[in-house]
Amino acid sequence: MEDRTCVVTGSSRGIGRGIAECFGTQGANVVVNYRRSETEANEVVDQIEAAGGRALAVQADVTDQEEVEAMREATHDAFGRADVVVNNAGINQDVLFTEMSHEEWDTVLDIHLDGAFHCTQAFYDDIAAAEEGRLINISSIVGKGGNMGQANYATAKSGIFGFTRTLALELADEGSTSNCVAPGFIATRMLDGVPEKLKAGIEDDTPLGRLGTVEEVAEVVGFLAGEKSSFITGEVIDVNGGKDL
Ligand code: NDP
Repeated sequence: MEDRTCVVTGSSRGIGRGIAECFGTQGANVVVNYRRSETEANEVVDQIEAAGGRALAVQADVTDQEEVEAMREATHDAFGRADVVVNNAGINQDVLFTEMSHEEWDTVLDIHLDGAFHCTQAFYDDIAAAEEGRLINISSIVGKGGNMGQANYATAKSGIFGFTRTLALELADEGSTSNCVAPGFIATRMLDGVPEKLKAGIEDDTPLGRLGTVEEVAEVVGFLAGEKSSFITGEVIDVNGGKDL
């Protein structure tokens, strides 16, 4: 990853942070994107720099096209063209469908789908022009199986599969790839709202008997970003402890 520039959306904490730190320790230049968590994003930058890498925290709400375009300019000013873009930023707003407001529907679809659209459009030319450019999208086990109370989130995450595969076709002529990682349940702040009893149930239902870690997702993203994944494109890689078996 030496001399590669990687943009990771929503990398001030959780899975995105794990991915940013994984890239940083491999010698990449890393853009640590965040929306509100400036202090946490700066901690990620410090962590990467302490390990000898180069990193830049960039505020941009992925739902805002102008802010995303400004992030591209900040990336170019600091490091030049981006080689790897990871669409990771995401939220959930869980509620049964019969009680779901249009706003809850829109908010979740905006961040996951419009966010991926804005970031991929902003960096498309970079990824296409890069030597082995990489687009990596973070979906979810829920995009495959659905989940009670997550009609908005599951719809967005399913959409990411079609987006990934279409971009794989469109980027192929340039020798660049588009892949997707679909984590199972990973111990991050996103799961904070899940009652302990439900979390215990998820662990029981997972063949490997536990939640995943951000590092376990980040390692797979790191592989997809590197040269050893050069003949893999349009794929969805599950990192779920066997939960959808
Ligand atoms: P966290 O809540 O821990 O982190 C979310 C990150 O996204 C934060 O850095 C947050 O920054 C950022 N973010 C949220 N909204 C925006 C926005 N509009 N623009 C820019 N950044 C934003 O979540 P996870 O790490 O758990 O989730 C990361 C991804 O992994 C998501 O796409 C999620 O759907 C997916 N995923 C998570 C699973 C899990 O079990 N945890 C399972 C499967 C998939 P800020 O605080 O500044 O807003």
